[in-house]
Amino acid sequence: MTGTAPAPFTADDYRGRRERAARAAADAGLAGLLVAPGPDLVWLTGYAPPAETERLTLLVLVPGQDPVLVVPALEAPDAAKAVGMPGLALRDWTDGKDPYAATAALLDASGRFGISDNAWAMHLLALQKALPGTSYASLTDALPMLRAVKDRAELELLAAAGAAADATFEEIRKVPFGGRRESEAAADLAHLLRRFGHSQVDFTIVASGPNGANPHHEVGDRVIERGDMVVLDFGGLKDGYGSDTSRTVHVGEPTEEERRVHDLVREAQEAGYRAVRPGVACQEVDRAARAVIAEAGYGEYFIHRTGHGIGVTTHEPPYMIEGEEQPLVPGMCFSVEPGVYLPGRFGVRIEDIVTVTEDGGRRLNDTTREMVIVD
Ligand code: ZN
Ligand code: ZN
Ligand code: ZN
Repeated sequence: MTGTAPAPFTADDYRGRRERAARAAADAGLAGLLVAPGPDLVWLTGYAPPAETERLTLLVLVPGQDPVLVVPALEAPDAAKAVGMPGLALRDWTDGKDPYAATAALLDASGRFGISDNAWAMHLLALQKALPGTSYASLTDALPMLRAVKDRAELELLAAAGAAADATFEEIRKVPFGGRRESEAAADLAHLLRRFGHSQVDFTIVASGPNGANPHHEVGDRVIERGDMVVLDFGGLKDGYGSDTSRTVHVGEPTEEERRVHDLVREAQEAGYRAVRPGVACQEVDRAARAVIAEAGYGEYFIHRTGHGIGVTTHEPPYMIEGEEQPLVPGMCFSVEPGVYLPGRFGVRIEDIVTVTEDGGRRLNDTTREMVIVD
């Protein structure tokens, strides 16, 4: 329940991740990885710069060399305190000096490098200018599975985040929906997520009635009415790891059709979950969920992929989507979230985070998947 749990990872954990990342880079034919502030840097070092800054901070991981963190001198003392710093050389630079020349000196002048998706273009352009013989690939394209397999401590944090999201649902279902605005229910969700230990709220979707048919609908001023289906989809970060769950509730007694569509999505979600086991391709999870909906004649109304990975962010590889042949590995964590969206009428989505075990899958969300009737 506290946002200041002791850091669960040791310097050795971070060192091990950097070693694996460097090996994976070499295996992928890359001369190294250039990691900008963001999820990959947090995962590899435990360091998150205090604020977004235009000054260059970059982790340089070159296979066979000691890793180096290029960091502005004024931020070096903070960086040095990060849990993952032992084993990492700090190369600080002061204003007026050229950080790109210092970085270039660490790199193979004709190498191909993986660079964080969120690195600033101005930094990449300056590096290309300093080293015209280099080329670059998006880190997520080059090494999509870098953070995909979670260790035991990460799984515990993801389970705790999932339990906090579940506690949020158990509270929100007691709150009256009819007559209130979507935005008010969304504010309740954000408040509850924080109350149950989230430090960051990434999304609080409340999509009522016809808005539920748009999976991208976030929240609006529509007043929720008696008879509405309401898609709730919420999550964020607790102690650095993500939650993401959806349940669809109904205000008052549902119609027979609403019940049937909800049951269908629940069966699809169950089928997707049951498809999870080591060695199965990601796309098989999508196919298993989709087949249930298609067989019932609603295939054209399931208009998104079945799931996405989760970890230090709430959306990341692996993706449960047709064409993704990556086999599931124990420790992977991702959503299973089929839905049916009937334009102009209503939508239903049911979402759990699932982790791959040695012989199947384990859900990290466990509130009821039966339709919940709210006031
Ligand atoms: Zn209804
Ligand atoms: Zn979601
Ligand atoms: Zn999701």
